[in-house]
Amino acid sequence: MLAFLRIRSVALPAGNIRVLSSKLLSTKNGTDSIGSRSESTKAHYDIIIGGGGLVGTTLAAALSSNPTLADKKVLLLEGAPEFKGFDPAGPYQNRVSAINKNSIELFKSIDAWSHIEAARYKPVKQMQVWESNTDALIQFQHDNFASDVACIIENDLILDAVYAKVKDAPNVEIQNKARIQCVRLPKDSQSQLSELELQDGRTFSCDLLIGADGANSVVRKEMGVDVFSLNYERMGLVATLDLGDDACDNSVAWQRFLPTGPVALLPLTDRLSSLVWSTTNEQAKKLQCLPPNEFVDALNEAFCRQYPRVELADKAVQALNTFFGHNATQHQVQYPPKVCGVKEKSRATFPLGFLHASSYVCSGAALVGDAAHRIHPLAGQGVNLGFSDVRYLVECLAAGAYAGFKLGDKQHLIKYERKCLKKNVPIMLGVHGLHTLYSTDFSPVVLFRSLGLQLTQNLPPIKNLFMRGAMGQ
Ligand SMILES: Cc1cc2nc3c(=O)[nH]c(=O)nc-3n(C[C@H](O)[C@H](O)[C@H](O)COP(=O)(O)OP(=O)(O)OC[C@H]3O[C@@H](n4cnc5c(N)ncnc54)[C@H](O)[C@@H]3O)c2cc1C
Repeated sequence: MLAFLRIRSVALPAGNIRVLSSKLLSTKNGTDSIGSRSESTKAHYDIIIGGGGLVGTTLAAALSSNPTLADKKVLLLEGAPEFKGFDPAGPYQNRVSAINKNSIELFKSIDAWSHIEAARYKPVKQMQVWESNTDALIQFQHDNFASDVACIIENDLILDAVYAKVKDAPNVEIQNKARIQCVRLPKDSQSQLSELELQDGRTFSCDLLIGADGANSVVRKEMGVDVFSLNYERMGLVATLDLGDDACDNSVAWQRFLPTGPVALLPLTDRLSSLVWSTTNEQAKKLQCLPPNEFVDALNEAFCRQYPRVELADKAVQALNTFFGHNATQHQVQYPPKVCGVKEKSRATFPLGFLHASSYVCSGAALVGDAAHRIHPLAGQGVNLGFSDVRYLVECLAAGAYAGFKLGDKQHLIKYERKCLKKNVPIMLGVHGLHTLYSTDFSPVVLFRSLGLQLTQNLPPIKNLFMRGAMGQ
């Protein structure tokens, strides 16, 4: 019934939305009266960003530091309580991201990179990705590209860096515990405004509403765009791992494709690494509850265990290496450092899926980050795509403001969408394709993917092309 009322509320003409939802709240809480939600609580902003995660907060920082948009009044609404900040002397966190060169350039352009640099991050100098059913592998080194493969940064540190920029910005206001309940978008942004109501009944209007509210975006639902989504029925298990006293120069990212999904180690310090282990829901839950020593054994085994070989694919990989004049040792799998321990309470699981909105814009609204697209973490691209949305959207809004377009003008916002689709769709299809290819041990598929991986390893121009794409160059 509640859901029905909410759906009905967005279909009503302007003005009614607030009253009907307030009625709903009063029914729900039994305390509120319609009259107490007076018009004086309804505030207007040029731009409202719904969702203050990594992408929404970075967008707010980027809008505030763009000189053409400096006169725009921006509101950032975040459903969660206020961000508590990041302690660079504190323990390492379990949520980290592999951040590519383009994203680092964005942080530099909004003067947030120095904040991260002064705290802590780990450059990845090399990467090895390998199979479990054959000897196929691919290795990347930073000297091939004259820059690091990626940087591993804790999510809360990124948030801390961009949050500091937003807090200092005179034209941006942040409201926490501000969960958007319903949205009403205009048919025509030339004459009408976007409106929204929070769970606590407060209402706002704006020229442009930006949905940065994650994969279950309320803004996207109201935009009425088609969404293609898949539940991978897999979880990503994260944890902070101790490599022990013997570890040194830990600067390699390791990823092995197991029959259940990829397991990856990302360096944090010489002694610590971060784990992203994508596996079946059942195994993820089991691994999360294992006693620490058993968990560490299972993890070490995952990197070293011999899985049933696909002989034909193995022979094909060897033949390919011989054809390119490499001997067996040149393309031999290296093994990651042995894991010695898992940090207490650092294990957590996240559901994995694929989602893509058919359109990122409509009159009066636009989507960024996971609200528009969500991908498997196997290539470490999800939030990097979100940061590239931020760059394209700010460029588009600045150009539009300069040329005299209204902020919510769909005809102008479409330019943002086109740029994003051109960048995001090939990466998303590539990542989804890899997930699909590696989700089976059907021999012809193993043969095909092993040859593809080894061919890429043997052909530096193709390898560099892939790597430059992943690095955001
Ligand atoms: C295990 C794992 C590992 C990953 N590793 C990488 C990696 O190495 N590199 C990489 O690029 N990507 C990685 N990703 C992907 C990356 O984490 C996401 O793409 C990124 O967090 C999305 O950020 P976002 O701000 O768009 O969305 P979210 O993080 O979902 O943030 C949305 C925000 O909106 C708020 N919100 C939601 N609804 C409302 C509402 N109604 N009203 C107000 N606020 C609301 C939420 O509280 C939240 O703060 C990984 C993902 C997983 C699961």
